[in-house]
Amino acid sequence: MAETGVDLANPRQGRLKTDDIPVALRQLPSTKGQQMQFPWLAMVAGFGSIALVGMAWVVMPSQFKEMIITHLNSTAIQSAQSPQPSTISSMPPVRLLGHYKYKEAPLDSLVPIVADGSIKLRQAAAVRFQEMMAAALDSNVVLEPLSGFRSRADQQYLFFHVKAERGQTPSERAGVSAPPGYSEHHTGYAIDIGDGNVPATNLSPDFENTAAFKWLTENAAHYSYELSFPKNNPQGVSYEPWHWRFVGDSDSLETFYTARSPQ
Ligand SMILES: [Zn+2]
Repeated sequence: MAETGVDLANPRQGRLKTDDIPVALRQLPSTKGQQMQFPWLAMVAGFGSIALVGMAWVVMPSQFKEMIITHLNSTAIQSAQSPQPSTISSMPPVRLLGHYKYKEAPLDSLVPIVADGSIKLRQAAAVRFQEMMAAALDSNVVLEPLSGFRSRADQQYLFFHVKAERGQTPSERAGVSAPPGYSEHHTGYAIDIGDGNVPATNLSPDFENTAAFKWLTENAAHYSYELSFPKNNPQGVSYEPWHWRFVGDSDSLETFYTARSPQ
């Protein structure tokens, strides 16, 4: 208190002109006038409250104490679990063993790309794939579709059945196949391509030595197809030279890019 009075009465302050004070300091709000006049009152009230709470705690029946402790614990757990509103937009995309989560394409959006109808893609991806296949054939390169749209049930079998058959751990299996719900094949925009002239390289890293792969690396971008899992991809998925995805319209682009871009 006494010191505050001295400061206020300091005659040197009166001689200071506004121009002597740096702009930043001039704009700071003065706290002198807002200082509490009776800090001892606050101190007494503070100590008093603590003493009262302490006394209440001492005389409180133990079941009330347990209720309070349980409530405090559950509140702490809830606040730790629930995301803060400001962090929702920057939450990382949902991933499992390196693979992103994808929705299944609506069945009525799929069209067959082979005569027996067994392999399907979404309309736009199917049209561009067939144009690409025809262009490759002009250069005697046979792009053989091996697998297109896959449902969660299809992927369920591919992941768990084959994993068990081969005795693989989940992460070993995820290096070569996505868990159900996390395959690009669910979207109807992804396709596994083989070389019709060298079927022995189907779904094998050796596919990268085929004419089909060479043709794709040089031409696929013209048909809005790109390699999903190149060597050393940031997702940590094994190199899959045969697995390509369509990114030629807004929906496919958003499917593969929006959720994983840094916000
Ligand atoms: Zn694939």
